Amino acid sequence: MQKIQMTTPLVEMDGDEMTRVLWQAIKDKLIHPFVELKSEYYDLGLEYRDATDDKVTVEAAEACKKYGVGVKCATITPNKQRVEEYNLKQMWKSPNGTIRAIMDGTVFRAPVTVGGITPTVSTWKKPITLARHAYGDIYKNTELRAPAGSKAELVITAPDGTETRADIHQFAGDGVVMGMHNTDASISGFARACFRYALDTKQDLWFSTKDTISKTYDHRFKDIFAEIYETEFKEAFEAAGLEYFYTLIDDAVARVIRSEGGFIWACKNYDGDVMSDMVATAFGSLAMMTSVLVSPDGKYEYEAAHGTVTRHFYKWRAGEKTSTNPVATIFAWSGAFRKRGELDDLPALCAYADALEKATIDTIEAGEMTGDLYLISTLENKKKLDSWEFLDAIAGRLETLLQA
Ligand code: NAP
Ligand code: MG
Repeated sequence: MQKIQMTTPLVEMDGDEMTRVLWQAIKDKLIHPFVELKSEYYDLGLEYRDATDDKVTVEAAEACKKYGVGVKCATITPNKQRVEEYNLKQMWKSPNGTIRAIMDGTVFRAPVTVGGITPTVSTWKKPITLARHAYGDIYKNTELRAPAGSKAELVITAPDGTETRADIHQFAGDGVVMGMHNTDASISGFARACFRYALDTKQDLWFSTKDTISKTYDHRFKDIFAEIYETEFKEAFEAAGLEYFYTLIDDAVARVIRSEGGFIWACKNYDGDVMSDMVATAFGSLAMMTSVLVSPDGKYEYEAAHGTVTRHFYKWRAGEKTSTNPVATIFAWSGAFRKRGELDDLPALCAYADALEKATIDTIEAGEMTGDLYLISTLENKKKLDSWEFLDAIAGRLETLLQA
């Protein structure tokens, strides 16, 4: 079979533990036999991040900005125990946080849905993509305890020194106070990433806040979204037959549960944190959740939503063949190939991405799956495979699809 050619390199970011092991296996079994892989490789494995004082992470993020498409393996975010385990120079920051800050991006998470794995919510027929604003609000807050008798005020000091003050509360008894912020720039970037991604994936966009209660703060989010929609995206949405729709978060929750799925739900930082876990769990398995970081100017970084699956890695290191699910990582690769194919006008690369996803879904729907899915699948003829058998089963189908 003639291998599919690429013109621009993908930014490839390797990672840690079990997902690093699967990363190599996916390349060996599902990519190299079919595609002449062109990638610019960055090793974000913890050892190399430590050796380069984490410069490699920054370089990888810059490369994503330069080339426009990256694919990333899960990585360890070090904590105290990891600092000892890897004898690290310091407790390096989360690579995802670093990349997100440099690309100024929004994370979109969507489940891979397959027959035999039924969502907890019986009306859901299509995936729901959750977009979480990843800046500010309570994640960058300042909070204090307020003793009885104290008065809390909000003060804004303008560049010329003028103060604007507002009373928060006069405390009769002990209490707590919190200050938080967001910026028009960050909210605008979030809005643009959401509108762009909706057009890209041809899905309606829903956005929700609590603007009835928060008449200045949340209302600002609503206004910025509305303004950017009207001036920059309305025409394209109408031409594509798509809808942008704003509603109160309470109403959104009720509508989401009653819906069939198949749309993007944009949420403020806290709402997105909570709702993404709920949506992911209700769709079945964390191992089937994909994630893509999209910058306001349309650069993409694809990855799995799960971590490095440490518990499985320790078993693998002890010589056991684990049944770790590679689906979200495979879909990170297929997403990146499809986007590269679209940008470079390479229909064969897009067709390969489609075939890779179809082969993966067909394999699971034929009853061949990893242990996590075996536990929840309703198929009768299901069989539990280890990760390598599962990848071989996909490779067989992929070859047939590509030869057809
Ligand atoms: P995790 O790697 O997502 O795994 C938690 C558990 O979920 C696993 O033990 C496993 O359950 C199940 N699971 C997750 N992915 C699976 C898969 N592909 N196939 C089968 N089962 C899967 O989370 P963690 O153990 O909390 O974190 C491990 C490391 O990952 C940490 O160092 C953390 O910093 C890092 N992390 C990285 C990212 C990222 O790079 N995006 C995200 C999250 C966490 P069972 O053990 O019950 O089989
Ligand atoms: Mg959370």
